[in-house]
Amino acid sequence: MHGLMMDYPLTVDRILEHAYRMYPTRRISTKMPDGHMHRYTYANLYSRVKRLANALGQLGVAQGDRVGTFAWNNYQHMELYFAIPCSGAVCHTLNIRLFPEQLAYIINHAEDKVIFADGTLVPMLERIADEIPAVETFVIFNAQPGQEIKLPNVVAYEDLIAAADEDYTWPVKDELTAMGLCYTSGTTGNPKGVLYSHRSLFLHTMGENQATALGLTPSDIVLPVVPQFHAMAWGLPYAAAMAGAELVMPGPHLNGPALAELIESEKVTIPAGVPTIWTALYQELRTNPRNLSHVRSLVVGGSAMPRGLIAAYERELGISVLHAWGMTELSPLGTVALLQTQHSTLSEDDRLDIKATQGYPIAGVELRIVNDMGEELPWDGTTMGEVQVRGAWVTNGYYKVERTPDQFTADGWFRTGDVATVSSDGYLQLTDRTKDLVKSGGEWISSVALENALMAHPDVHEAAVIAVPDERWSERPLACVVLVPDADTITEADLLEYLAPEFERFWLPDHIVFLSEIPKTSVGKFDKKVLRARHAAGELA
Ligand code: AMP
Repeated sequence: MHGLMMDYPLTVDRILEHAYRMYPTRRISTKMPDGHMHRYTYANLYSRVKRLANALGQLGVAQGDRVGTFAWNNYQHMELYFAIPCSGAVCHTLNIRLFPEQLAYIINHAEDKVIFADGTLVPMLERIADEIPAVETFVIFNAQPGQEIKLPNVVAYEDLIAAADEDYTWPVKDELTAMGLCYTSGTTGNPKGVLYSHRSLFLHTMGENQATALGLTPSDIVLPVVPQFHAMAWGLPYAAAMAGAELVMPGPHLNGPALAELIESEKVTIPAGVPTIWTALYQELRTNPRNLSHVRSLVVGGSAMPRGLIAAYERELGISVLHAWGMTELSPLGTVALLQTQHSTLSEDDRLDIKATQGYPIAGVELRIVNDMGEELPWDGTTMGEVQVRGAWVTNGYYKVERTPDQFTADGWFRTGDVATVSSDGYLQLTDRTKDLVKSGGEWISSVALENALMAHPDVHEAAVIAVPDERWSERPLACVVLVPDADTITEADLLEYLAPEFERFWLPDHIVFLSEIPKTSVGKFDKKVLRARHAAGELA
């Protein structure tokens, strides 16, 4: 319509151009496999991305082709995050922790034409080379000197960039062009692909940078510990570029001591990762205290951060924790647990309760909770229902998969499979996954609530609660517990007694079994599917 605003396509190259214009000297630092720091600027990134975009064309990558990445968090992966979409192709981030058959499955399902891989990870690709015949070229960076690579059509990343022209015109004109592809970890069946568009990515980046969300600024130094192969590292590489924040990439160095050292020496303000990472960091900081006063927000998501761990960070270490919830299907950010003005008069304990929730929906995402009959439920902080979402960066269906009623409602909301309560002021509190809920005698028992309570015990390192079949009640909770080292005098009866005051009697697990570790999925979540299988095989008696 005449006089209406400009038609300005929201494309990823606009983010890169902004970073280059506004923040050319801000740095991206990577801890390389050998431990040294590689440092360069957004200006360096910009010129290498342009060369790489030209090189992709020379490799025969056409508009819409899928290009795989198989790498740690590093500057090369950052270059691919921009060069692939900004040249019109689709950046398919391959999860380096998948089983070989799943990895081959997603490469073939996505029909990746070229794969860019980290030399340190090449052995995993070599194992499946025969099963992925459609991949035309493998481009390798960070190879060891003299490393023999047993893959067909291998090209060295640096040779490719050196030979390419820096002159390049961004070709993407339509914001609804696909830019990225991430497969969900697939706790049931095959992994499913979520295809992001330039528009959804751009809006997610702005959404994440709202002051009421993560709100990155040029004063921030962001450490994405969350892998770049998991939900686009929560969008942090793009959010940092848009905000002019510096990035610190940890490469393969992800243990507690290495991260503590990196956060301190690089003066990181926003470290971001899953709770397992922060448990390891906390244990390290307790034995080797460090000055981490520059951290303004320790961002955590992917699984629930136990309240006790949040308390330990905030009270013992003086580090503020920001709990967030999201999903690959949501690009991934959905909610954040920042406190609001109405919470300023609350006691410290009550404020901690709020920080331990998954938080409120950020602008751009809407959510509701719904019962088995599809009726919307009240936001009263106690009624549990399935979480459904819609918004500017929520998936509209899985890649090359028919939409089904268990994924979307008739009125178009995405069914997350998470079960939660919502408080009157909009804070989501996850109580379960629909498939992990314990349905005992017609009532729902939240496995997550039991796990959180168990993990609040000082002798409990990890706890996972699963539903086990029961003749009388249909299902009953079974708790699997890993104790902290030196805590072996604690018994099942002690833990049940500890739980008793907090729950109705029928919620208490019938049994607690002690394990040396809880099995984890490829992205570090408790793998309850494995626990259920072990129970069925009689191994958790
Ligand atoms: P993924 O797509 O692999 O990131 O998995 C998304 C799922 O992880 C969600 O549906 C939740 O079940 C779980 N999740 C993500 N963030 C949180 C959180 N802060 N607390 C509890 N569960 C979470």
